Amino acid sequence: MNILFAAAEVAPLIKTGGLADVAGALPQALRRLGHDARIVMPFYRRMRGSVTALTGPITASFLPAGERQEQMRIFKTMLGDTPIYLLDIPAAFERDSIYGDDDDDRRFCLFARGILVLMLHLRDVEGWQTEVLNGNDWHTALLSNYIKTFYAYTFGQIATVYTIHNLAYQGIFSPFTLYLSGLNEGGMVETSAGPGFEQQFNFMARGIIYADIVSTVSPTYAQEILSTEYGERLDGLLRTRQDHLVGILNGIDYEFFNPQTDPYIAANYSVDAIAGKAICKAALQRECGFPEAPDRPLLGMVTRLAEQKGLDLLDQAMAWLLGQTDAQLVLLGTGQPYLEQAFASYARAYPDRVNVQLRFDAALAQRIYAGCDAFLMPSRYEPGGLGQLIALRYGTVPIVRATGGLNDTVREGWDGNGFRFHSYIAQELIDAIARCLTSFRDLTGWPILRARGMREDHSWESSAREYVAMYEWARREIGHS
Ligand code: ADP
Repeated sequence: MNILFAAAEVAPLIKTGGLADVAGALPQALRRLGHDARIVMPFYRRMRGSVTALTGPITASFLPAGERQEQMRIFKTMLGDTPIYLLDIPAAFERDSIYGDDDDDRRFCLFARGILVLMLHLRDVEGWQTEVLNGNDWHTALLSNYIKTFYAYTFGQIATVYTIHNLAYQGIFSPFTLYLSGLNEGGMVETSAGPGFEQQFNFMARGIIYADIVSTVSPTYAQEILSTEYGERLDGLLRTRQDHLVGILNGIDYEFFNPQTDPYIAANYSVDAIAGKAICKAALQRECGFPEAPDRPLLGMVTRLAEQKGLDLLDQAMAWLLGQTDAQLVLLGTGQPYLEQAFASYARAYPDRVNVQLRFDAALAQRIYAGCDAFLMPSRYEPGGLGQLIALRYGTVPIVRATGGLNDTVREGWDGNGFRFHSYIAQELIDAIARCLTSFRDLTGWPILRARGMREDHSWESSAREYVAMYEWARREIGHS
């Protein structure tokens, strides 16, 4: 199959979150299965210095946005053996920011239009017909809208899939965006309360309405978003597409996240030669300024400091953790200032028990995944979650709230790989940590639990097979057998 994967960020070229990891890894996994997957992304100014081996421009064009026409040039580079098309649209991407600008609607309308031009070029000049177009998150949600309406005749052969990585970020703008996009009104929805907001231009809603298949990043999240609790005001719309909605778990890059070869950690190890993990733990304890104590449980967390991640629960559990246990805690994350301050003050008050690093640091993240005994993810919601998968790979036992992808990947019990709780209340988190600490003291049971997680396969390969099955389903939806 010829698959074009459209994303606003692709690791390692540019990354703000999990979407980039998926966009960098999944197309490569699809290629390993024999499909011709290619990637299209914006050519942000920040990437200028780092992208080497650039070909092009392979084509140039003008894109409409409202009354203006903006210039675009398309370049090509490679990620391994996967072609990546970079859309150089100065009006949209010749600036330092990635998202969060007032004109994001205009920028990503232009990006979508640019992708349509790319597909025409690939088909008419290079003889490469896109068979499946996979849009991701709100930035590329308009693709299926264009293809199913104005470009239905031109692109009627293309099956569209729209993947939701986080329903909370929808790309909501005023009705003026209709004019910028040139689209029709058939996708206006009410997603905010209050006067003047009745009808909004909602990028994500249009992806959900027009795509042949809608997917999200775990089976549990695919169910949860049909409810008002998790539906972010789009649950009604999602229920209308329930028969075309599927959840497929993310994988992680097993070459990069490999304790056997990881260059960032104090000692390498594997499930069959685990000794190095104790060296990693001792090194992390030293780095944190904690007493070096193999028998004291070391808990870790690597996360955006966002409300979603359950940090308020951990905050409420801290008095118990510090007063009633001998656990140590290391937290790496950036985000909301009130959360940064709350946890920084624990670190100041208990420097030999709590260490907090308020920055983005990929190498330290690896040292935490390797050096800790257990990894905390008490999320309020979690579409897929990568942290628990990395932790499992490094033999660090996850303690999670059973929501979204955490519910699908972490089990507790006789054949479990971690600890889980259900209700979003601090006492349940406390109880789950307590069960984990009891298990940690069980010198026979703990290595078995840890090894079970390490032996699991959360690589991209099996997920990529499920994506292929979904793409085939999308093609059947438009009449290809
Ligand atoms: P989300 O996409 O909601 O942020 P995920 O668990 O899916 O959450 O992915 C987060 C990824 O980003 C993980 O690989 C995690 O290790 C990494 N990460 C988050 N915060 C930091 C940080 N401050 N430093 C290094 N890596 C981080």
